[in-house]
Amino acid sequence: MARDREVGEVTGATVTAILEALLTRGPSTRANLTADTGLSRPTVSRTLALLLRAGAVEQVKDVNHGGRGRPPHLVRLSSRRADTLGVELGRGHIAFAMTDIAGSVVLAAACDTKPASSLVERANEALDLLLARARDARIDLTKIRSVVVGTPGPRYHNPGSRSGIDVSLARLSRERALVANVFTAALKAPVAVGNNTRYSALGEMSRRRAAGLGVDDLVYLRVDEGIGGGVVSGGELQAGAWDAAGEMGHISVDADGPACFCGGRGCLELVAALPAVLRAAAARDLDDLRDRATWDPAAMAAIVGAASATGRVVAGVLAVVNPSVLVIGGSVASLPGFLERVETVTRAVAPQWATLGLLVEAAATDHLLGAIGAAAAGYGPLGGAVPLVAQEVAVAGDVRSGPRGASTASNGRASLPFRT
Ligand SMILES: [Zn+2]
Repeated sequence: MARDREVGEVTGATVTAILEALLTRGPSTRANLTADTGLSRPTVSRTLALLLRAGAVEQVKDVNHGGRGRPPHLVRLSSRRADTLGVELGRGHIAFAMTDIAGSVVLAAACDTKPASSLVERANEALDLLLARARDARIDLTKIRSVVVGTPGPRYHNPGSRSGIDVSLARLSRERALVANVFTAALKAPVAVGNNTRYSALGEMSRRRAAGLGVDDLVYLRVDEGIGGGVVSGGELQAGAWDAAGEMGHISVDADGPACFCGGRGCLELVAALPAVLRAAAARDLDDLRDRATWDPAAMAAIVGAASATGRVVAGVLAVVNPSVLVIGGSVASLPGFLERVETVTRAVAPQWATLGLLVEAAATDHLLGAIGAAAAGYGPLGGAVPLVAQEVAVAGDVRSGPRGASTASNGRASLPFRT
């Protein structure tokens, strides 16, 4: 930087130094920035002028200024400019979360959608929701730097064949390409599409980092209509060679069990996902099962059986991944006694070093988790090294929190549902 000292030259390095200082310190005076970066005053001035013109930073009055005279101006990262967009196109719901350049979620919304709708239909719905909310909040979408979309899949089912990658994967790739086109055409930004459950794992990590917890190694498991999950290791989401790392529902718990669509046999999903638990309990639906979960022996046995099988699979995963946090979500996991039983079995059968200091926690139940995780996957103005700081979100309505299906809406700035 010494080279810049005399001439007030604006370079990529001076831009990065000032953005880093603003990320670290928050709103700053020019004197703060000069001291923090070691750059000369003319360099700070010219670099800020460029960043102001580009809309990356904005000036605000220092309302806490207690001294005499006019309050000084503070410079901060622009909150009115969208930087990274995360989208989830789930089965039955869509959601988006948008961060500013500082990594704070500035706008997010979710709503229900028809489970039978195609991925492209859901993409268009999510885009319409985003455009409407951004217009209401007067947020500029023209400088979005990256878009990450999470969708269900891949599911490698190909009945009657175990040979190689199957047709459904090719179809999914085509559908995902069409989804990418929807967002690229509207937002003129690069779009990546991946698995939504994997992004939920990243969402769980972002949620903890936003709360000031230094979590780098986390396993996320969702026990729902199917069973899936995701692995964050060393702070990085592990997608695997085929975007299938974390598919814990397809670890076999019974080598002589029934054949599974995945090509395996006796998979965890066949004994512990919602359809299997309902069948074992002779329950009509989730509500019926929940009503009977604390007194009906058949319902209790079904839940214990599913949780025990899940616990044994999880124990194996812990031995491989050695996370500090295990997060379990999904409708089955919300049944009374399920989570406790998984933890008991896991701790009983896993190697001691894999569970020593391990936290077992319930997943966030809001509809934004997958979208926030997708945004975290796309975030990184300074080379991807900065964690998502999802501190506050401008909720424009229809954001659901609490159990899926329950709905709350609010206006104005509100805390993220996961920030307690
Ligand atoms: Zn399977």
